[in-house]
Amino acid sequence: MRITGAVLERCGAPAPYAESRPVTVGPLELDPPGDGEVLVRIEAAGLCHSDLSVVDGNRARPVPMLLGHEAAGVVEATGPGARLAVGQRVVMTFLPRCGQCAQCATDGRLPCAVGSAANAAGTLVGGGRRLRRAVPAGSGEAQEVHHHLGVSAFASHAVVSETSVVPVDHDVPPDIAALLGCAVLTGGGAVVNAGRPAPGDRVAVVGLGGVGMAALLVAVALGHEVVGVDAVPAKLDLARELGATLAVGPQEAADQGLRAPVVIEAAGSARAFETAYAVTAPGGTTVTVGLPHPDARASISPLSLTAEARTVVGSYLGSAVPSRDIPRYVELWRAGRLPLERLVSDRITLDDLPAALDRLASGAALRQLVMF
Ligand SMILES: [Zn+2]
Ligand SMILES: [Zn+2]
Repeated sequence: MRITGAVLERCGAPAPYAESRPVTVGPLELDPPGDGEVLVRIEAAGLCHSDLSVVDGNRARPVPMLLGHEAAGVVEATGPGARLAVGQRVVMTFLPRCGQCAQCATDGRLPCAVGSAANAAGTLVGGGRRLRRAVPAGSGEAQEVHHHLGVSAFASHAVVSETSVVPVDHDVPPDIAALLGCAVLTGGGAVVNAGRPAPGDRVAVVGLGGVGMAALLVAVALGHEVVGVDAVPAKLDLARELGATLAVGPQEAADQGLRAPVVIEAAGSARAFETAYAVTAPGGTTVTVGLPHPDARASISPLSLTAEARTVVGSYLGSAVPSRDIPRYVELWRAGRLPLERLVSDRITLDDLPAALDRLASGAALRQLVMF
C-alpha cells in the first residue's frame, strides 16, 4: 500500500536540521504484514533523543531509514498467525521480544538478542524489510528503506512484528499510549526494575528530558521523595511542578553535597554520568539509561565503589518486560497518579520534524508528538 513517511537520508548532517534537512517526507510503499505481523495505522509518535542520535550520527544506523520508535496506533490488518484483532489499539515498543532466546529469559535484564540483531540491521525481527521508495511504474527497482528499531512510526502506517507491540484499551488516548512505549518504559523501568528503591527512599534523576521526566513522574507516583538535576532552568521549574521536592543544576547539586540512594542518569553524556555517580549515596545504586557516543569515557573513583559498597547498573529499555510493565503504568495513569500529558511540549506534523529535531537538540523540548 502507499503510505506517507519521514525518511532519514543520511547520518551526521550538520545542525540546524531545518536548514540541512536530512529528513524527507514523501510517499513510500509498505508491504502487507507477514507471519506474526500487523499493519498499524499510526495515531501519535514521539520524537525521542534516540531518533536525534541517529540523525546527528552519535548512533549511526543504516540509511535510508524511516525513523520513529515511540508510538501508538490501531491495528488495521493482521498477517498469518497474528493473534491481535483488527481495531485493537497498541503501544509500539522499540525492542521486539522473541520470547525464545536466553536473554529473553532474564526477566528484562538483558535485551532480546534476536530483536537487537534485527534492530542493528534495520530489519523486522521476522527478517527483511517491508518498506520501499515509491517509484513510478517502469522506472526500475524500488530502493528498500530500513526500519528503525522494528517500528518506523514517523509514517501514516507501519508493519511491525506482534512482538513489538502491547495492546492497550481505548480509554488510553493515543498521545498517552505513545509515551508508554519509550519514555515511560525506559524512565519508569530505570526506577522500578533497575534502581529498585526501598519504600520512602529518595530518588534523584539527572537529565530531565522525556525519559528523565518520566522517571521522575513514576518515582513521585510511587511515593518517593524525588530530586531533579538538569542544567536547563525551565526543566527544573517543571520538575518542581511535577512533584520534585528539590530541583537543582549539576554544580548546585555538588555544592550542596546532594546524595540519594537511587540515582537515574537519563541525559546520555559522560558528564551526566559522573554527576549521577557523584550524587549516589554510600550503599546506593547509580542507574544509567543514557546512550552517549560510543567513544565517550567517564571518570569515577573505583575506591568509592568498594569503600562505599556502591552499585552501577546499565539499563536498556528500562530493563522492562513491556507486556508486564505497560499495564502497570496504565493503572497508575488511570488512578490519576501519572500525569503523562505533562510530558508533551509540542504537537507537530511530519513536515515539522527538522525544526523539532533542532528544538530537541537545544534542550528546549520535552516530548514532541507527531499527531496523525
Ligand atoms: Zn526513545
Ligand atoms: Zn529474545
